[in-house]
Amino acid sequence: MQPQTIDPAMLARAISALRAAIGEKNVFTAEDDKVAYSDHYAPDESVHRPSGGLAPATVDEVRAVVRIANEFRIPLWPISRGKNFGYGGPAPVLKGSLVLDLSRMKRIEIDEENGTVLVEPGVSFFDLYDFIQARKLPLWLSVPGNSWGSVVGNALDRGVGYTPYGDHAARICGLEVVLPEGDLVRTGMGAMGNSKSWQLYKPGFGPSWDTMFCQSNFGIVTKMGLWLMPEPESVLGFDIEFDKPEDIGWAVDVLAPLRRDGVIQQSPSFGNWMRSAAVMTRREQWAKPDQMLDEKAISAIRKHFNIGWWSVQIRTYGPLEINEATNRHVQKAFNGKKVLAMKPSRWVKGDKPLGSPVSGTPISFPLANANWFSGRGGHVSYSPVLPPRGDLALKQFQRTKALYDRYGMDYHASFSMGERSMTNVNQVLFDRDNPVMAANLDRIFRALVVDAKEQGYGEYRTHIDYMDVVAETFDFNQHALRRLNEKVKDALDPRGILAPGKSGIWPAGRRGARA
Ligand code: ADP
Repeated sequence: MQPQTIDPAMLARAISALRAAIGEKNVFTAEDDKVAYSDHYAPDESVHRPSGGLAPATVDEVRAVVRIANEFRIPLWPISRGKNFGYGGPAPVLKGSLVLDLSRMKRIEIDEENGTVLVEPGVSFFDLYDFIQARKLPLWLSVPGNSWGSVVGNALDRGVGYTPYGDHAARICGLEVVLPEGDLVRTGMGAMGNSKSWQLYKPGFGPSWDTMFCQSNFGIVTKMGLWLMPEPESVLGFDIEFDKPEDIGWAVDVLAPLRRDGVIQQSPSFGNWMRSAAVMTRREQWAKPDQMLDEKAISAIRKHFNIGWWSVQIRTYGPLEINEATNRHVQKAFNGKKVLAMKPSRWVKGDKPLGSPVSGTPISFPLANANWFSGRGGHVSYSPVLPPRGDLALKQFQRTKALYDRYGMDYHASFSMGERSMTNVNQVLFDRDNPVMAANLDRIFRALVVDAKEQGYGEYRTHIDYMDVVAETFDFNQHALRRLNEKVKDALDPRGILAPGKSGIWPAGRRGARA
């Protein structure tokens, strides 16, 4: 049985052992350090305040850290760069855990011919982009909206990007993992000591384990293989603006078949007016703080920035001759449909670089939406997965918008079109200096999860505050999935040291901490 809380005497002994193992200067326990490793987007940072952080530089040091954590039964929360904003940033589920910060591990190995890379957790999207640019390699990244984070951390949390390689977890090919008791494994073909195809062939021999380390607490990933997109000859497409909220219905029905049959290979994301506006302006310019944004204010914002109620970017990639035909096919699908604007976009190899996430250029400007309110801003993300159908999108919009209105929040959402699904990403923005709004954030989040569950929709990813709440909705056969997860957890991590509570998975002895 594990203790429910973290024993301060054991923590102190662990910290001395950690200092001896990885160097005094790489273990951080000052008050400022605890604040630095907290979730700066949360209503109350103290709920998930860690006891500090530690930053090993090598796999051997990670293994030494794990052995010490086992000896003193101190929970570790691994992060790669800890920029998982909206989902908890660097902070652990369990208060008092030590944050295992892998950002000093920054090795990059590229196989140019095959378009693959082997990266360590500290490599950010900017680092990998610079590495590729410096060598003028014809390979493109897929980057998430906030590219400040880690390539490894983002893929492990199933982050998404804008190119055909935008499902980051799906592009993983081979991992190196330190298991919770300190053993070191390589998955896929990497299990063979002298393998020549670790980054080339995903399944390996026998069971495949790569996905087991995504959104889980079963291991610490110290290296990740990923496939990169060979630079295409052309990128074509359209920027489309829609006038009315109801347009989401028919527009989803236009794109869903094009996604399913592979004509469009990236995931177009319909964002509402606020997704565009919140990075360019502040709310106070359009309404008083205690006033809801009515249609008049929304129209004024839209007019000022020339944006639709919804907008979407569609891009197709490939050899020009094929791509032009593909693009015509996409255009035809919109024939006779009433759009506000449909602006063509065309890039052909040799043109000036696109410099956009659709060509894998890292960005960080979406973080500017934290300035929407006048106080310190933050957001918590709520992201259920739906079947890709227009009527369902429209109803989802109407039900969730009614909840935003009830709790006094500004509607900020997108519908991202997967091959066989549609993810409704909501960034619920709030003013961290407004206690009423912070309290309402919790209310709306719980209401949204209940609403999704009633419809049969589950979240694809969630904030550390709500991991138990969301895991609870995966309830087939009295939570058989949770039983399976926790059986595996106990087998791999008998002392319960690795990320207790991640994705609602608790080790034996700490299950009393389940929310
Ligand atoms: P990013 O900086 O890309 O946003 P994070 O480092 O915040 O990514 O990682 C997101 C989440 O993924 C973390 O909260 C943690 O639960 C998990 N994670 C990140 N890196 C690792 C790793 N190397 N091994 C295991 N889990 C990890």
